[in-house]
Amino acid sequence: MHLMACHECDFLQKIPPVPEGSAALCARCGSLLLRNKPKSFQRPLALLMAGAILFVMFNAFPFLTFKKGGLVHETYVATGIRDLADQGMPHLAALVAFNLLIAPGLHLLAFLYVLVPVSLNRRAPGMFRVFRYLRLLQPWHMVEIFMLGVLVSMVKLAKMAQIIPGVAVYSLTAFIFVMAAASAAIDPHEVWERWEAPR
Ligand SMILES: [Zn+2]
Repeated sequence: MHLMACHECDFLQKIPPVPEGSAALCARCGSLLLRNKPKSFQRPLALLMAGAILFVMFNAFPFLTFKKGGLVHETYVATGIRDLADQGMPHLAALVAFNLLIAPGLHLLAFLYVLVPVSLNRRAPGMFRVFRYLRLLQPWHMVEIFMLGVLVSMVKLAKMAQIIPGVAVYSLTAFIFVMAAASAAIDPHEVWERWEAPR
């Protein structure tokens, strides 16, 4: 039992433990107080494991291959960032590196750092703070905007050379969906609850 105020009408009420798959409604106005998502740790954890594999894949495999005449030029995410810096755009290179590699990488690590111990009924040191920063990091994770840029440039460059999307393009696309699904599957309330009272 713990106290919770309704977001809609501010009515303070005692909430019994909510069984998995059910929700608690406000006793006065009937609005949703909290929902206990089923498998709230296993599901996001499985998605995050997939996310980690896809993260490695989009960094390790070729991104785009340009073919013109007899010339074949293979690019990787990392070489693309280096090329931007070499072409006199170090700030843009840093921004792409941050939004494409550092923020999603940190996001993934922070998520795993909180969820792995919690799913084992343990608490990681500083987990409270990490979980809070995790939510701050989310808007900086702009892989989907990068993908949009890639698609636009592919269409534009298609006249000049033959462009073949590599494994990294598909991995990055899958990564976007997997991370969005992991964020949606996690139950922040249950993480807080476990934090307060480890069983
Ligand atoms: Zn209410």
